[in-house]
This record gives sequence, structure tokens and C-alpha cells, in this order.
Amino acid sequence: MKTPNVTLNNGLKMPMLGLGVYQTRPGKETEQAVIWALEAGYRHIDTAAVYKNEADVGRAIRASGIPRADIFLTTKLWNADQGEDAVLKACDQSLDRLGVEYVDLYLIHWPVEGKRKESWRGFEKLLDQKKVLSAGVSNYTERHLEELLGSSSLVPAVNQIEFSPFLYQKKLYEYCMRRGIQLEAYGPLTQGKKLDHPAVQAIARNRERTAAQVLLRWAIQHEIVVIPKSIRQERIQENSQLFDFSLKAGEMETLDGLNENFRTCWDPTDAP
Ligand code: NAD
Repeated sequence: MKTPNVTLNNGLKMPMLGLGVYQTRPGKETEQAVIWALEAGYRHIDTAAVYKNEADVGRAIRASGIPRADIFLTTKLWNADQGEDAVLKACDQSLDRLGVEYVDLYLIHWPVEGKRKESWRGFEKLLDQKKVLSAGVSNYTERHLEELLGSSSLVPAVNQIEFSPFLYQKKLYEYCMRRGIQLEAYGPLTQGKKLDHPAVQAIARNRERTAAQVLLRWAIQHEIVVIPKSIRQERIQENSQLFDFSLKAGEMETLDGLNENFRTCWDPTDAP
């Protein structure tokens, strides 16, 4: 199934669905998941230096025979590599491991205090060098974004944050929308922990869809990019069947009302 794109603030297109590979083991497990995703029609993969599976992602992309230009590839700068010069080296190392000339999106994985502004300057250089087509951030709160926008004219193309109906960060979502920063949802399936919630199950039954598809579709209808993770072929396929149905306004409202600040990952709220 063809995935629609969003257009980023730099004019580049980003597929609204990608495969996440956090906690996907290096080696065969990652390679196979990426191949299944590409076979299922995904054209967007989200990895990170710290996931230790960039080489396997790169191998799978090459094995697929799909032209590099047709795949949107994201990786992330790890905390230990923050700093203007360190960023340049870390990016080169990621590109080497991936076996590619550029990534479509490079993200600051976490807003490390005292380093993040310098790192952003490094990102500006990487854009100039065309090693990175789009620069973005991850786990940035409104406060971190305000600081960044106050010190640089380069507006992040993307902010990747944990986001689901159970962690509906409406204020941050609206803030990003207003400034043309595309929101990207990690943990869009709550790592599977809320799939049996009765309200989600009821909508899934009515629509003859699965709970996972309902959560992903909710984000898509809010114009948020999703990167669900799975290593199982049938789930990878299931998670891609999102563009032949839509949730009704009332169903969206029900899901909007499920927020309970539920997190599966780290909480950047108090990150200095
Ligand atoms: P997720 O919400 O995508 O949940 C994945 C889990 O949900 C799977 O391991 C599986 O247990 C279950 N699952 C997947 N498909 C299913 C289906 N169809 N039916 C039932 N269960 C299903 O969680 P995630 O992996 O934490 O997030 C997705 C991606 O976001 C990651 O792989 C990674 O690429 C990215 N991420 C980024 C950060 C960051 O700090 N930037 C943090 C966490 C994750």
C-alpha cells in the first residue's frame, strides 16, 4: 500500500509511516524486519546510532534493490557525541555503518544540557555538506525548542517525541504545528501496553480493524508521522494498512480523551 507523504518545512517529503527498529536486535533480526517492511511498502526506516543496528538497516536496504532515493532514512545522534565537532564525526560514522552517502533526517536524540546548541551548529554544517537532507530533534519539549529557535535561524524539520492517545501532548503538538515543525510519534503503539484498552477495542471492533491500526490511524489523522516497531512479518504488514479507512470525528474525540500521561520511554519534561 502506498504511504502518503507530509511536506517538511524545507520542502522535502517524508512518508507518514516508517518502521522503527529500537530494541530490534542487530544482525538477522533487524535485516529481516527491514526487508519485510520494504516488501510491505514501507519506504521509511527509523534507526539510531545507539540502537547498534545501523549496519543491518543499510544491508537490508541494499538487498532490497529499491533505489536509495526512494527510501527515507533517519538516524540519530547519541548523547555522548554531542558538540559541534563531535557531531560531524558521529554523522560520518553513522553514514559508514549504514553504507549510504546521506541520511534523509538526522535527529538530536536527546536535548543534552550545555551541548545541544553546539550540536545544532554541527547540524547546520552537515546540511551544507549534504550529508543530511533534513535536521531535526527528538525528545524536545517546548522549552528546549524555544531555546533552539532563540539561538538559530534553522528551524528543526521534525520533533520526534513519544505520542499516543494515552500521551496526548496537545500543547507541544500545537506549538510544533504553529512553527512548521513536523511531529513524529515514537511509541505510537504504547509498546503494546494499551492495545487492550476497552475504548480502543470498541473502535477496532466497529471498524473491523485491529487496536494497533486504530492507534496508528489516530496519529495519522492528526497529521503526525508514525514509526511503529515490530519484528513480526504479519504485524509489520498489519501496521501498514492505515490508508484505506478513516476514523470518524466521534472516534477521534474518544481517542483524544484517553490521555493519562502514559509513557513507555524516558520523560524529557524536567531535562534542564
Ligand atoms: P511501539 O509503540 O512502536 O511498540 C512496539 C511494540 O508493540 C512491539 O515490540 C510489539 O510488542 C507491539 N506491536 C507492534 N505491532 C503490533 C501489532 N500490530 N499488534 C500487537 N502488538 C504490536 O514502540 P517503540 O518501539 O518504543 O517505538 C517505535 C519506534 O520509535 C522505535 O522502534 C524507534 O525507532 C523510535 N523510538 C524513538 C525514541 C526516541 O527517543 N527518539 C524512543 C523510543 C522509540
